[in-house]
Amino acid sequence: MHKFLILVVEDDPAIRNLMAATLKSHDYRFITAPTGASALMQASTAQPDIVLLDLGLPDVDGIEIIRKIRTWSQMPIIVISARAEDTDKIHALDAGADDYLTKPFSVEELLARLRVTQRRLTFMQTSAPSPIFTNGELRIDYAAGCAWLGEQELHLTPMEYKLLCVMAQNVGKVLTLSFITQKVWGSSTDSDIASLRVFMATLRKKLSAGKEEAQYIQTHIGVGYRMQKL
Ligand code: CA
Repeated sequence: MHKFLILVVEDDPAIRNLMAATLKSHDYRFITAPTGASALMQASTAQPDIVLLDLGLPDVDGIEIIRKIRTWSQMPIIVISARAEDTDKIHALDAGADDYLTKPFSVEELLARLRVTQRRLTFMQTSAPSPIFTNGELRIDYAAGCAWLGEQELHLTPMEYKLLCVMAQNVGKVLTLSFITQKVWGSSTDSDIASLRVFMATLRKKLSAGKEEAQYIQTHIGVGYRMQKL
């Protein structure tokens, strides 16, 4: 069985050692980098499956590292930031990060984020480009322009359908409010973001079909939304 290789980028030795010990005890392969420069080198030479990236590094801003990696690779990047401000997370996600963890985090949270990212990776590697998207009970036929939940066709407005497609095309990734409104409306003014919240509420209601357990779309308060890979 393929073991995922994780690149841990963290300048604080105590946190780096904790993460390394956690990954080791859960059977992950990993390499570490204490600086931005070594992170970029490791990312290109070792070709890790997932990067865990501390945003506050001594030499290079973490956001710059995301931008550089994104010029040549789509490898999943989970940002780890001590800065509690949402704006840092949002900038990192807009620069191309997949997910984020805020320090201090628990070992369980770290492992949960890795599992989410692994599911997304496996999905991307095993699903050939297809006009049909499936996730749990949800099925979207891009060619026909319609969506089903199990056997039931979903009655979506054109805007809800467009929104659903944007979420599905980025399944597993946290998308920022401005990323989504740019994709759906081509702009991201305050009123676009207010409309997004309204459309998302009705879309989620239609997707849940009265069942609370089927939560396809997760809310990240102040940041955005993610379609979970079920
Ligand atoms: Ca740091």
